[in-house]
Amino acid sequence: MKKYIIILVSFAVLVFSCKEEKKEVKEEVAEIVKPEVKLYTFDGGTVMVNNLELFSQDTTYQGQTKEFADAFYVITHPKGNLMWDAGLPEMLVGMPEPFTPPPGAFSVSRKDSVINQLKRVGMTPEDIDYIALSHTHFDHSGHANVLKNSTWLVQEAEYTMITSDEIKNSENAGLYEAIKDLTNVKTLNGDHDVFGDGSVIIKSMPGHTPGHQVLYLDLAENGPTLLTGDLYHLYENREHKRVPVFNTDVEQTLKSMDAFETFAKEKNAKVYLQHQKEDFNKMPKAPQYLK
Ligand SMILES: [Zn+2]
Repeated sequence: MKKYIIILVSFAVLVFSCKEEKKEVKEEVAEIVKPEVKLYTFDGGTVMVNNLELFSQDTTYQGQTKEFADAFYVITHPKGNLMWDAGLPEMLVGMPEPFTPPPGAFSVSRKDSVINQLKRVGMTPEDIDYIALSHTHFDHSGHANVLKNSTWLVQEAEYTMITSDEIKNSENAGLYEAIKDLTNVKTLNGDHDVFGDGSVIIKSMPGHTPGHQVLYLDLAENGPTLLTGDLYHLYENREHKRVPVFNTDVEQTLKSMDAFETFAKEKNAKVYLQHQKEDFNKMPKAPQYLK
């Protein structure tokens, strides 16, 4: 009889605790249902680097050349759409030969406009709520002005630099011209959770430029995903922490590289170097997508 009582008591405890547990389980399930986020990759052109030596502080790449991919991306989320980077200038579309601006370090080409490419996913620029550039160099801001109705998510340090009189009155005035129609501006100071649920996060990684940033995505199938912007242009630069000669701040870049690697490891993220052709090639191209 004693045995039965014990069993009965245990049963009662079980029923009681089950009630509690059920609630907990339900909460956990709600937490792990991820929003449907898709990453569409588009072709923003090609950069033939005629002088790869520019991509290290030493002479490692002396005499070498390399072809870089130049992607741009659209991230769709139930709460809105984000464009990440904007490829090379659209004036290149239709040119019969790659264009080599002085002093000749790069030869650049681009096959198609943003409007044409967005059609593949049934979108127009009006469907893009936010635009964020990893930074404001010419190979990332190409068609930015077409997105003039989108909200530009930009680090304050980058915005201050690119809209300064120093830039506007310099030989680099074209960098300002490339973003001047983006007038809905949200300036950031550090990381920014775009849709507020941790699935799309802009990470501040300065050094290449004053407000350089990378993009973190928590995708349901591909898992944690990082787009590097120009923190690294080449696999070798990631491996050996090589800093291009034209970065604005070497120390800041190295700090950002450390922060990036710590974060990538913590998240066990898949890392994609935007200029590395192998990484560009393994991305499904719009209308296909990563999710
Ligand atoms: Zn670049």
